[in-house]
Formats: sequence, C-alpha cells, structure tokens
Amino acid sequence: MLLPMAGAHTPGTRCGGESTHPARDPLRAGRGPENGLVAWALAALLGVLTVLGSINLFVDGAVRDGAGRPVYAVTLAACLLIAAALGVRRRASAAVTVALVLFGDLVYVVLAWATGDPLRYAPPLMLLFTCLVAAWFLRARALAVHMVAVVVACWTALADSYPGTAALVVAVAASAGLLNAATVGVFVLRRRVERLLAATQALSSTDPLTGLANRRSLVEQAPRIWRQARRDGQRVAALVLDLDHFKRLNDTYGHAVGDAVLRSVSRALAASVRPADVLARTGGEELVVLGLVSDPDEAWRLAQRLRLAVVDSGRAQQREVTASIGVALAGPVDGEDPTDALWRLVDRADAAMYEAKQAGRDRVVVAGGTLVPQVTGGSRRSPAGGTTA
Ligand code: GH3
Ligand code: MG
Ligand code: MG
Repeated sequence: MLLPMAGAHTPGTRCGGESTHPARDPLRAGRGPENGLVAWALAALLGVLTVLGSINLFVDGAVRDGAGRPVYAVTLAACLLIAAALGVRRRASAAVTVALVLFGDLVYVVLAWATGDPLRYAPPLMLLFTCLVAAWFLRARALAVHMVAVVVACWTALADSYPGTAALVVAVAASAGLLNAATVGVFVLRRRVERLLAATQALSSTDPLTGLANRRSLVEQAPRIWRQARRDGQRVAALVLDLDHFKRLNDTYGHAVGDAVLRSVSRALAASVRPADVLARTGGEELVVLGLVSDPDEAWRLAQRLRLAVVDSGRAQQREVTASIGVALAGPVDGEDPTDALWRLVDRADAAMYEAKQAGRDRVVVAGGTLVPQVTGGSRRSPAGGTTA
C-alpha cells in the first residue's frame, strides 16, 4: 500500500507554505513554467491571424470598400501589437489567456465581415489555430465558452453568404462542428498527457515500497526548505533514522516481514512528523526527516517522538523494532547551494546516527550537542558532549 507521502508529495498539506512542485498543468494557464509557453502560443495565434489576414490586403477586391479597409487594417495592427507585447512580456495570466482566445474568435468575425466574402477570403478554417490554443491552455469551462463562441463566430461570419437559414445552419454545423471536434480531440489528448506526466512525476519521486518521498524528492525540496529557513530566521534540522539490527529481523522472519515492518514504521513516522517536515526513505532501512526548528531542543524532541513512534509501530506488529537517530542543525548561509548544504547536513546527522549505534542503539544523538535535559526510559538526564537518550 502506498502511504500518503509525508512532506514530499502533498503540496500545501504536509509541506507547509509553499507548493512542493511548480504547476505544470496547462489548465492553470498563467502560472508556473507553462506561463511562458502560453504567452508564446497566444503571440503565435495573433501572429498567424495577422499573417493570414494580411494576404487579403494584397488581393484586389478581397476587402470591402469604405469602412472595411480601415477596420481590417486596425484589427490586424491590434493583433500585431498584442502579439509583440506578449513576446516582450513572456507572461499571460489565466484571465488574459481566456480573453485573448475570445479576442481571436472576435478578430475572425471582424475579418470575415471586412472581406464581405468570407467563403473566399476568410473561411472558418482561420479559427483553427485559435481552437488549438484554446484546447491546450483553457480550463474546461472557459473552453466551453470558446466553443460556443466558435459557433456564434461562424454563424455571424457566414450569415450573408448563404441564401436561406437551412443552408446556413448546415454550413455552420459543418464548420463549427469540425473546429469544435478538433478542439475536443486536442483537449482529451492534453488531459491524457497531463495525467501521464503527473503519474510519471509521482513515480519518479516516490519510494515504491513505503510511498514516502525518495532521495531525489528530498533533494528537490532542499531549495524550498532553505528559502523558508532564511525567510523565517530558523534553522534546518536533518534527522537520519536507521533501523537497528534490521538484517537480523530479515534473517529471522524473512524479507516479507521486513518489508511489512518498513511499511508500518514509515506509516508511523509519517503520522508523527510535523505537517511541514519532509520524510524520505533514502536507503534500505534508512530514512531522513528534514524540517525547520528554532533550536536544537525542538529537533531533539522531534527525534525522540519519532524514536518512540518506531518502537510503538513494532509493538503493534508484535516485533521489537528500534531506530538509532542522528540529528544535525544548520543555519542558512547566503550564497550556498541548498543541495550541497543538504548533503553536508545529512552527513553530519549520519555521523551522529553512527554515534547512536555505537552508544547502544535505540537512541538519539545530536551532532555537536551540549544541550537540554533528556528522557531515557521515563527519566531525564543531562548529556555531556553528544546528546543522547
Ligand atoms: P544496524 O543496527 O547496525 O543498522 O544493523 P542492520 O542490520 O540494520 O544494518 P545492516 O546495514 O547490516 O543491514 C541492513 C539490512 O536492511 C540489510 C538488508 O537486508 C535490509 N534491507 C534493506 N532494504 C530492505 C528492504 O527494502 N526490505 C527488507 N525487508 N530489508 C531491507
Ligand atoms: Mg540498520
Ligand atoms: Mg543502514
């Protein structure tokens, strides 16, 4: 069974203030890395309309006399200006994306009107690129509005080109129907691609046995945690947990039981870490917790809570399971690389964890600790040097 992934994969729930993964969902047009792509697509859409429309300016009789020509020219100029602005800004919010797609629909109607003979000079096919952009970037509701707009645009553009309503209805149904069918097809394709991407992303950052974050995911989150530490004036704490004598447990009861214990311990730890902590399985029976603390005492208390959670989870399965935990703290330093800082911190916590092993296992050691009273078997004592319990 996959656990809810503590810290790593539940943005806005277990990871605290900032989102864990940047938005990669084109549905959320205007945010995340898709933002630049949306702007380029909209610029290209308006650019294509301008280029297609401009051809008519060079064809004799393509554009109506009178108001037709200036309206036509002003519309194309507006498209070009907006396209240029998008190219410069390289950003388009979700609302702007919807507005510009509908603007694309409107531009088609104006161009069709200005030609006077849309069947020849402004066929509904001119809306195709607008439809593709809409299908790829709009949310379902906005897309539905656009699809209705396509029907209205085709009707308005072709109204004068057919003698009777029946012929007009057939023509609009054919044109708008094809355009909207293509839109729906692309939208469905996009949804599949998005789901596939999300699944791949989850797999690549999840430990398959426990459902916890994996090493890669831990590294991915380092920049966020270091940023938060700097912003909140806190320290980053790394806790390295290693299950004691796990090989013995495997040898005695078999690997299936070992796996079940690993899953149960992971569940217990996931339930015991704080909502913003990151809990990752970094190796066989080794886990890392990364979180923010204001002082070593807080990190030590967290480590003790986790140590007891491991013992309790073993008891629940009628097994004796314990963990040795090493703790290290670091303050964020200007200009440091968070990934390097992460591994330096984990290395120190790892060394502290080995101290805990040598001191008898089932205990917590804080790297370089000279602090706080501790609880061992219900009594409190003051450590000397490394902090153990
Ligand atoms: P120590 O207290 O010194 O940590 O002893 P240990 O036996 O836990 O450490 P050691 O490194 O000797 O052995 C780790 C064991 O963890 C060996 C390996 O079989 C087991 N292990 C690693 N990954 C898994 C896993 O995914 N499932 C199971 N069942 N066992 C695993
Ligand atoms: Mg071990
Ligand atoms: Mg180990």
